[in-house]
Amino acid sequence: MTTPRAFITGVGGQDGSLLAALLLDKGYEVVGVLRREPSAYAEALAPVEGRVTLLEADLLDHAALVASLRETRPTEVYNLAAPSFVPRSWDEPIVTAEFAAVGATSMLEAIREVDPGIRFYQASSSEIFGEPRETPQTEQTAPSPVTPYGVAKAYAHFIAGSYRRKYGMFTCCGILYNHESPLRPVDFLPRKVSHAAAAISLGLEDELVLGDLSARRDWGYAGDYVRAMWLMLQCDQPGDYVVATGVSHSVEELVACAFDAVSLDWREHVRTDSALFRGASELHDLVGDASKARRVLGWEPEVGFRELLTLMVEADLARLQAPAASS
Ligand code: NDP
Repeated sequence: MTTPRAFITGVGGQDGSLLAALLLDKGYEVVGVLRREPSAYAEALAPVEGRVTLLEADLLDHAALVASLRETRPTEVYNLAAPSFVPRSWDEPIVTAEFAAVGATSMLEAIREVDPGIRFYQASSSEIFGEPRETPQTEQTAPSPVTPYGVAKAYAHFIAGSYRRKYGMFTCCGILYNHESPLRPVDFLPRKVSHAAAAISLGLEDELVLGDLSARRDWGYAGDYVRAMWLMLQCDQPGDYVVATGVSHSVEELVACAFDAVSLDWREHVRTDSALFRGASELHDLVGDASKARRVLGWEPEVGFRELLTLMVEADLARLQAPAASS
């Protein structure tokens, strides 16, 4: 049997690096695409260092993608590269559309040109549901994105489906809900909270300032979600899958779990500031129904909400106590 070979764009990000580690464990050869020098992604790539072939390429450089595929001959492509911080897509709507929407098309075209038999995973997102038509959302829920990020991801979602229908390509979209890990940047709320809980417990910071504590999200663990990506490409038939826990939690619950992990009462350390409240254009009750993933892929999340926050806080404590501490 030939060794399976995966080609991962965005391998320096949270999901890319966790997916690379998972696939290496499964005996894959892994090729990872970065758009900057590998040292820019040192922390995420440390666990797979020396075991992944790294290439520098931009998703919009179609010729470079074609050359990379010809050179590395993957059996599976995971397209994870995209700007991923939703609020920033309002500041960078053009770049977001270029990379998240056109970049996915560019990758699909490169595959079609080099080997249409390559299996393709597209990192779709719950943000395609925007202001959802129903709760919880399923693969049948009509997309109605409201942010530039969600609109661009919806384009990528549809084009991956179009290539499946028109060219018979094996394309799968994972409609992933928020998933976190210690690799999340501190711009993202769960990591902002885990970092602050750790720093306050060590006496390094005094308080945490947040927006709306009643806002709710369906948060899961990234390690569980990259496993779903792999499972999709092992199926007999391509398809789209919601990947979610099915349970939403408030920001207040998240904060309480993180501060519990360091035995502190969050009420003594957290202040809210209405300037940090997200507008109606970003506040929606997104909860996913992952019944199809459970039924067809046999997928189950293994790390629960409290466990996720505990592992994130513990990772932040370890970082802050390391000799050259950084966030
Ligand atoms: P990250 O931001 O951690 O990783 C994305 C990676 O893509 C980064 O390494 C980034 O590099 C890279 N990238 C961005 N633009 C380009 C480009 N033009 N060319 C090449 N590389 C590029 O995100 P996650 O790992 O969390 O998410 C992976 C994917 O899943 C993303 O597409 C995201 O939108 C999607 N997703 C994530 C969810 C989540 O909750 N994590 C939920 C739903 C979908 P650089 O650091 O240099 O910008």
